[in-house]
Amino acid sequence: MAVHETIDVRSTTREELIDITRLVRDAIRSTGVTSGLAVVFVPHTTAAIALQENSDPSVKSDMLSHLRALVPRDVGSGRHADDNVDAHIKAAIVGQSLTVVVDGGKPVLGQWQAVFFCEFDGPRQRRVLVRAVADAAPRRAAP
Ligand code: ZN
Repeated sequence: MAVHETIDVRSTTREELIDITRLVRDAIRSTGVTSGLAVVFVPHTTAAIALQENSDPSVKSDMLSHLRALVPRDVGSGRHADDNVDAHIKAAIVGQSLTVVVDGGKPVLGQWQAVFFCEFDGPRQRRVLVRAVADAAPRRAAP
């Protein structure tokens, strides 16, 4: 059986990385799945999700500044009506989903890993879906 939870995220600037690890933990706990996999999915085309270091804040700012260097604000043909092609490209590079192992009702993360919601065209009200799937019952060996 699989169930999903929704996390509401409010970004406050055009580009930012928001640590949502605690919210993802809470969402996984709410699914009731204690052992299995969880998918953390961002249903947006100008935002993304990443596992990254949470102890040194310079990692967040360096990631954003290097993505900006890679994809300049004025990239594109100028034909996209939203004038946010850079945000679409950054979101595509970082990606819209993560899969984490769930053990004991919690996501299994490395010591320095945190789940970051990556905003590239804020400020906006956003959503993150968390869907957990329990392990199948173990097969019994044939007699
Ligand atoms: Zn657009």
